[in-house]
Amino acid sequence: MLLAGLGLCFGSFVNALVWRVRQQAISPPSLRLRWTGNKQKAINSKDLPITHFQFSILSGRSQCVNCHHLLVSKDLVPVLSWLFLRGRCRYCQKPISVQYPLVEIAGATVFVASYYFWPLHIAAGQWVLLVSWLATSVGLLALAVYDLRWMILPSRILYPTLALALGGRLAYILFFAQDKARSFWLLGLSVLVASGIFWVLFMISSGRWIGYGDIRLGLITGSVLASPAKSFLMIFLASVLGTLFVIPRLITKRQSFSSKLPYGPWLILSTALTLLFGEPIIDWYTQLLI
Ligand SMILES: [Zn+2]
Repeated sequence: MLLAGLGLCFGSFVNALVWRVRQQAISPPSLRLRWTGNKQKAINSKDLPITHFQFSILSGRSQCVNCHHLLVSKDLVPVLSWLFLRGRCRYCQKPISVQYPLVEIAGATVFVASYYFWPLHIAAGQWVLLVSWLATSVGLLALAVYDLRWMILPSRILYPTLALALGGRLAYILFFAQDKARSFWLLGLSVLVASGIFWVLFMISSGRWIGYGDIRLGLITGSVLASPAKSFLMIFLASVLGTLFVIPRLITKRQSFSSKLPYGPWLILSTALTLLFGEPIIDWYTQLLI
C-alpha cells in the first residue's frame, strides 16, 4: 500500500516534471535567464503570457495547462482527482489528458512490481539497488513520457537519472559486492553493450536510424542492468516490443515506413522487464548453449 501510494505520488511528480521541463525548453532563453536569475524580482505576470512564467522545475505550484488557474491540493490527488472531476479542469472545464492518471498508475505499478518481483532476497546490499532503481525508474518514466510526446530525451532529465542509476550501482559495488573487480568489469561491459551498439548504429547511419538520446539512455539502462547479457536481452526485447507495436499500425496505414518513432519508451520498458524477470531467461538460454 505504502509503495503504491509512493508510486502514485512520484507518477504525479513525473507529470509535473515533464510539463515544466517542456515549458523551459520551448521558452525563449532571455526569459529563462531573467527568471532563474532572481526569483523574487520575478517578471510581472501581467506583462507576459503566463506559460512563460512557471519556470522553476522543482518549486512553484502546479497550474491548469489550459486556464493556468493554480491548483489546490484537492485537485492534485493522484488518479482520484482526475476521476472525481471526470477528466475536466475544475475551473475551465477543459478536458485533462488521460496521460495524467495513466502515468500515475504506471508509477504505482513500477513501485509495487519492483518490490514483489525483485529477483534476489532483499538484504542490505539489495536495498541499495532497489531504492536506487525506484529513484531511477521515476526519471525513466519521465523520459518515456517526454519521448512519446515530443520525440526527445531531454538532458535535464537524462543526466540526473544517470546519476541516480550509476550512483546506486557504484555504491553497491563499493560497499557490498563480493568480487569488486569483476562487478566493475561487468558494469563497464553492460554500459558498452547498452550504449555502444546504438553509438555504432548512429555512426553508420549518421543519425538516421537512431537518436543521439538513445545512446545516452544506454548509459542509464546499462548501469541499471550491470550485466552485458542482460543488456543484450534488453535491446532484443525492446526491438521485439517495438516491432509488435509498429506492425498493426503499418497495416492500418496509421504509420508509414519512413516516419520516425520514439524508441526510448521501448528501451525503458524492456529495461524494467529485464531487471525483474531477465535472470531466468538468461539462465535458460545459457543452458541451451551448454
Ligand atoms: Zn483549467
